[in-house]
Amino acid sequence: MWLFREGSGRICLDYVRTLRHRGAPAEVEELSDPATLTAWVTQFGPWDRMAATPDIRAVESARTLREAIFRVVELARTTKGAVRPSDRDRAVINKAASRHVPIPSLDEHGELRWAAPDPIAAVLATVARDALDLVTSPTAALIRRCAGESCQAYFVDLSRPGNRRWCSMDTCGNRAKKRNLRAREMHTPT
Ligand SMILES: [Zn+2]
Repeated sequence: MWLFREGSGRICLDYVRTLRHRGAPAEVEELSDPATLTAWVTQFGPWDRMAATPDIRAVESARTLREAIFRVVELARTTKGAVRPSDRDRAVINKAASRHVPIPSLDEHGELRWAAPDPIAAVLATVARDALDLVTSPTAALIRRCAGESCQAYFVDLSRPGNRRWCSMDTCGNRAKKRNLRAREMHTPT
């Protein structure tokens, strides 16, 4: 059972994070094969279990989508005003967004059911649509990068003062706190 990081505030940013420690020596590819892609979609999609099994090409295009979203989000974060992505990135994200998203329905027991012709594509369509919405909305100004050492995770800073620094207090925030504490102890005369 895989457990992927969540809590960025947007599904598209959680998805970008499946390349952990991006660009650092400790970089980890979490979407390495069909099983891990299925696990991500199961965790973030509306299904508890999923019948669909993607092939390796589906995994490759899922990663291509992720990298396109990463570049567009980075543009949105660092440029003020309209985002001008490359034609290729635009095409990749637009195409993913054009697929069917999961469709809700109420069954005879009063329970919510979700359906999609292609569950993997449907959840990735949700991710792509979320990315399009995020980078063109005022919320784009709130995208931050975690200050944790080599973490690189994006999150939306919804804190009132707008000074959130960590992807999560439980991981990066806590590590930094411990480091500061150790540094202070070392400098305290005994
Ligand atoms: Zn972090």
